[in-house]
Amino acid sequence: MRLADRTAFITGGGRGIGRAAALAFAHEGARVFVVARTTSEVERVAAEVRAERGDDAAAHAVCDVADPGSVAQAFAAAAEFFGRGTDILVNNAGVAESSKFAETTDEFWRRHLDINLSGTFYCMRVAVPAMVARGWGRVINIASIAGKTGAPYIAAYAASKHGVLGLTRSVALETAAKGVTVNAVCPGYVDTDMTTRAVENIRAKTGRGAAEALEAIKGMSPQRRLVTPEEVAALALLLASEEGRGITGQAINIDGGAVLY
Ligand code: NDP
Repeated sequence: MRLADRTAFITGGGRGIGRAAALAFAHEGARVFVVARTTSEVERVAAEVRAERGDDAAAHAVCDVADPGSVAQAFAAAAEFFGRGTDILVNNAGVAESSKFAETTDEFWRRHLDINLSGTFYCMRVAVPAMVARGWGRVINIASIAGKTGAPYIAAYAASKHGVLGLTRSVALETAAKGVTVNAVCPGYVDTDMTTRAVENIRAKTGRGAAEALEAIKGMSPQRRLVTPEEVAALALLLASEEGRGITGQAINIDGGAVLY
């Protein structure tokens, strides 16, 4: 098993990509701690993992990554559950909404920056020094191809994800000689609730049918399909594993060829 004896803290672990990462990591032997704001969802994912891997394999906590106090509490609970520190941090919690730039409110802007960028920073600030002290660690930040390129109506989201790449690259260089790797994964559209909401939004704003809106989204990928959460989890797993130790400071696209840099 590729993650035997490893511990993994996964934000946004209640559904979508975070759930897929929790299941994939546990399948490879990691003990996982899943957090998000919705209790029922993280509870369910932890139970799913325990059903496959046993009672000691997973636990959950409610945590708002935008609140540094809540992040500190969740890491304390994880340390108690693991009986040691966190080896692997997956910063996956995120929100994505669209707004015309001129109509972007302070609240909308802050929410995207607070959750997607500051949330990633708060979790790394707790986890990374302990990884460095132990001489082994993996940070996997789920960014987006919107961290590399722009698009209309997603200025706040794209700014937050561009920020995640800067954070990733800088911390990677600070920790490169300390046994710790820090990478970003940049998906295109993934088959999760987030994309379902995007389809609904296109439908509501353009009057197109849901099937047509979904086809428009799929058409943004040269592969003309959505990426699955399991594909993103498999890439995260490689980065988390021993085989991935030479990869650091990277921002790896998983998008069917939509963005080529
Ligand atoms: P989902 O909306 O399905 O899941 C998002 C997860 O993040 C949920 O568990 C949610 O739980 C959690 N979350 C949101 N806000 C917070 C918060 N403040 N604190 C803690 N947890 C939070 O989305 P996906 O699985 O699709 O997305 C996961 C990541 O992948 C995001 O960072 C997203 O930007 C990125 N991504 C997704 C793409 C897609 O097409 N789906 C494409 C590119 C990147 P809760 O609301 O209960 O807190």
